[in-house]
This record gives sequence, structure tokens and C-alpha cells, in this order.
Amino acid sequence: MNVVVIGHVDHGKSTVIGRLMADTHSLPEGKLEQVKARCANDARPFEYAFLLDALADEQAQGITIDSARCFFRSEKREYIIIDAPGHIEFLRNMISGAARAEAALLVIDAKEGVQENSRRHGYLLSMLGIRQVAIAVNKMDLADYAQATFESIRDEYRDFLSQIGVEALDFIPLSAREGDNIIANSERMPWYTGPTTLDIFDSFTKEQDTADKAFRFPVQDIYKFTASGDDRRILAGRVETGSARVGDEVVFLPSQKRSTIATVEGFNLPPQTQAGAGQSTGFTLREQIYVNPGELMCKADEPMPQVSTHLAVNIFWMSRQPMVRDKKYKIKLAGARMPVWLHEVVTVLDASELTTDSNRQQVERHDVAECILETLKPIAFDLSTDIAQTGRFVIIDNYEIAGGGVVLKAVESATNRITERVQQREQRWQRSNITPHVRSTRYNQRSTLVLICGPANTGKEKLAKALEEHLFESGRYVYYLGLSNTSLSMDVTESGQRDEYIRRLGEVSHLFTDAGLILIATISDLDDYELDTINTLNQPSDFRIINVGPNRFSRANVDLQIDDVSDPADAVHEIKQLLTAKQYLIEYYL
Ligand code: GDP
Repeated sequence: MNVVVIGHVDHGKSTVIGRLMADTHSLPEGKLEQVKARCANDARPFEYAFLLDALADEQAQGITIDSARCFFRSEKREYIIIDAPGHIEFLRNMISGAARAEAALLVIDAKEGVQENSRRHGYLLSMLGIRQVAIAVNKMDLADYAQATFESIRDEYRDFLSQIGVEALDFIPLSAREGDNIIANSERMPWYTGPTTLDIFDSFTKEQDTADKAFRFPVQDIYKFTASGDDRRILAGRVETGSARVGDEVVFLPSQKRSTIATVEGFNLPPQTQAGAGQSTGFTLREQIYVNPGELMCKADEPMPQVSTHLAVNIFWMSRQPMVRDKKYKIKLAGARMPVWLHEVVTVLDASELTTDSNRQQVERHDVAECILETLKPIAFDLSTDIAQTGRFVIIDNYEIAGGGVVLKAVESATNRITERVQQREQRWQRSNITPHVRSTRYNQRSTLVLICGPANTGKEKLAKALEEHLFESGRYVYYLGLSNTSLSMDVTESGQRDEYIRRLGEVSHLFTDAGLILIATISDLDDYELDTINTLNQPSDFRIINVGPNRFSRANVDLQIDDVSDPADAVHEIKQLLTAKQYLIEYYL
């Protein structure tokens, strides 16, 4: 069980931990005596906190007694105390996933009472989503073990916690130094009949084991079988949580494509029938579908992850450069990597000062902020409270990790960067008196965007040029947009080149179709979301999809499917028929 002990400096955190180690007899043989003797030798008073230092020294010298970092054990289980030398380190570790506290013990000095820092720490726990919190009112010996002192601190702090949505499981009066209420109830506080500190630890509930959670497999890579004629693919990656076996029906998100597991491939191992949490493995599927690396494979009969472009998150920012709006960053979340923007800052907790601020536009170094992020395309994820592995992320700026965080929830959003851009464009656009209808009548055609899609190297460009030529020869106003997309494989989504290409294509289409032309463009491996982007930018004109080769869309309706373009003339003829049927090519006028 992972627990963090947190509180204002000198309120007694290390003493509480040292006491728990000593009183539960979890220390290595003779350690307590050794530290006590050393203190006596140096003529300084013994402190339980020194036990932590002594253990840390041992660990540093590699003679660690306990590689699992177990600090103490009760009859029920072992406890790992998460290292929280300072709240910045704690935050960084929690958010990056290096350490995950399942519960917290917050220590308040009875004599000093609730300090500003005690409040800030409560706030921090709430931001991190740690729901199991117990409060120790320590140094009761300095307050004459008075019930009234304990109760006034308890009431004040409980009030505060309820304001920030945290419910304390227990409040316990302690004297860590004297050992009161640590593992046994104290006779000096007969008025307290609640659980001891150790009982409280034992009452924390353990997080569900990763193996028992829903199956999550971020697809990292796709390998093709090399034998000719074998079109099977291995989806490679690491099972984050849960398990899956041959025959399970699976869904890929965000594409929502479905298939069934055919085999579980063990690398350098004989084939398996199932794979579980923590395993790096590969799956093949019964029905061949096209999925991209970065998709999240889940089981159809289990709770699904969320899919959205807008995420409410808690972020911890580490980079010297503040996180600002309108700057493109990269997010790595549940196996996906994609461009992301800071959409809105909700509140900021300054982690050095630990003060909150709701009026900030950017996130500074060491801030913890609740914000809304916007991704380029819908992304699949879990809420960090459900599945931590697929609910936390890092933000990359300039090839370096600039921040990290946890997902709080998906946010519905009516607008996104593209629709906002179109709204601005429409506001500024000056319309002339020549309406689309007037143009259409003069040109004998309705404008549209003809998108020739499909996998790379299927002869799309040749077809596009032949189509342009044919329409031009028959008197149409047509243009083939030769923006080269040959180097734009799906992989460059990350670098943002592809995303820029899609945006330009959308903007340019809007211009050309607005001018009354039939615009022809080709693009490889177009996906549904990119198509949405082009469509939004190209509005109010419409588009038609001609798909050459295997169809990889999961939602979009293809207007014309062409399997073979070895003779472009046939394909051109088919496209022309489509354009005529849809009344883009007006054949005659009375
Ligand atoms: P931390 O900074 O929160 O880890 O605090 P420490 O555990 O190092 O304790 C700070 C000081 O408070 C030390 O001098 C401890 O001896 C003292 N202290 C801790 N617990 C108690 C207690 O229950 N009673 C009294 N009187 N002093 C305590």
C-alpha cells in the first residue's frame, strides 16, 4: 500500500513515520539501538526522524534491507511511504506516475494549529485526486493532551476540507514523539476512543489491481508479415491493464473499428492464448482492419475509455518557458502522440507559494493548474481516477518533457480551433454581389471539391491529372491542386506537417470552390477527422470522396470506390458520371 505523509515542515511527519517503523518492529535488527547509541555518543537527543536518515544512508550505500522500499508492516500488509521531501518533488512524482499514493496522512501540529500550508496541502491532495485522507493532530503533549484543542483543530480543518471536496476519513490526536495513539490507544487521551494510526493505515482501501481493470492496449506499432500474400499484421505494444485472450472481440478507439483477436504473439516465445497487464506482446486479428499506431485497443464487453478533443486536466508544469495559449505542444497519452493546445486555464495552484489563482492566462514553472487542453484529433483515454495508466499524460515541448498531468474528465465543446478559425474568417470575409448562384449559372457547373483518397502509391495523382484534363477539355472550370503530399505519411502527424497540409488544403479548397471551380486534390491515408477538418474549412461548399484501393475510413461515406486505376480513362469516366448525377456538371440550359 502506497501512502504519502504530508504536512507543514516540522509538524512531525518524519517522527510519525519513524515511530511507525520502530513500534511495528519493522526496522532491521539493532537499528534503533544503533541510532540511539550514536545520538548518545554525539551528546544529542534521539529523534525518531533520524531512523529515516539512517535507512536512507543504508540505501545509498547499497546495503538496503528492503529493495521494495517497505517502511513498515502491520499484520495486514506492508506499507510504502512515498518520498515527499518537498511538495514539488511529490507533485512531479505523482503526476509523472513515478509514484502513486493511494492514500495520505496529513500531519498538523497541535500547538501551531491549522497553518496556511496545511490548507495548501489539503488543496494539493484534492487536485491530485487522492480521496483517502486521514488527519493526524500531532504533538498533543505540547497541548496538554487537551480534547478541546484537538476538537477545535479538527472542526476548523474539516470545514476547510469540505469546501474543497475532500472528506477526511479520520482525525486522530497523536504524540508521535511520545508514541501516543501510534499503534496503541493512549492512556493520556482517554477521551479519544477512535482508531490508532496503524488502524487508520489498515483501513485504507487498496486500489484495484491493474490486472483486474478493463483491458487497455495502446497500439505502438504495426508489423506486417513478410511472406508474400500474407496480409496479416501484428499489433505490437504493452498491455497496460486487464487481459485479453484469443477470441475476444476488440474495439479500437478513437476509430471505433472492431475485430476479434486471432492470436497472441509472444516475442521469442511460443504463441500464447492470452496476455495480461504489464506484458509486452503482439496481437493478430481475424478480420483485417486498418488501425493506426496510437489507437487504444479495448475489449468490446468492458467499460470503454472516453474519446474527446477537449480534456479537463490537472497539469504540473516543469519547463522554464510557461505554458501558453496558441502554442502547439505535443501530448503523449495512452500510446497516442499528437499536437495539443492549451485551451483554457481554469485555476492555478502556485506550487512554490501554494496559492491559487483563477485569473491566469498561462501556466508557469512549478504551477499545478486545472486546465482544458485541446487535441488536434479525438483521443482515447481514461479518467485518472479509473485507470491511472491511461489517464495520465506528458506534454512535450521542443523534444523535452515540459509538463505532465492527469485527466479529470472529457469536456463537451461546441467549438474547436478549426470552427473558431472559420467563424473569424467568415466575419472578416467581404462578399461581392456575384453570388454563388450567378457564378454557377455562368460556368454551367456547381463548384465542389473532389478528393481522391486511398493508400499511398495507388496512382491517385495520375488519375487526378487525367480527370482535370478531361473536364477542362469538355469546357469545365477545373483545377488540379498539386500540393505535394508524397512525403506526408501518417507518421508526420506528430511533427505537425500533415496537420498543416490538411489545414492548407481546407483553406485553399474554400477559396477555389468559392470562386466557382471544381477543385481536384489527392491525399493519402486521409482519416475521418482530417476529412471533418477539410469539410469545416471548405464550407459552405461540399466535397466528394473518390477512394482508390482499400477503404480505410470508419465513418465517412465514399462516393465512388475505384479498385483499379491501371486505366485512368475508365476511372475518369466513372467520376464524370458521378459528378453529372450529383448535378455538378450542368449539361444544358434552356
Ligand atoms: P517534519 O519536518 O514534519 O518531518 O518534522 P519532524 O518529524 O522532523 O519533527 C520536527 C520536530 O518536532 C522534531 O524536533 C521532533 O522531535 C518534534 N516532534 C515531532 N513529533 C512530536 C511530538 O509528538 N511532540 C513533540 N513535543 N515534538 C514532536
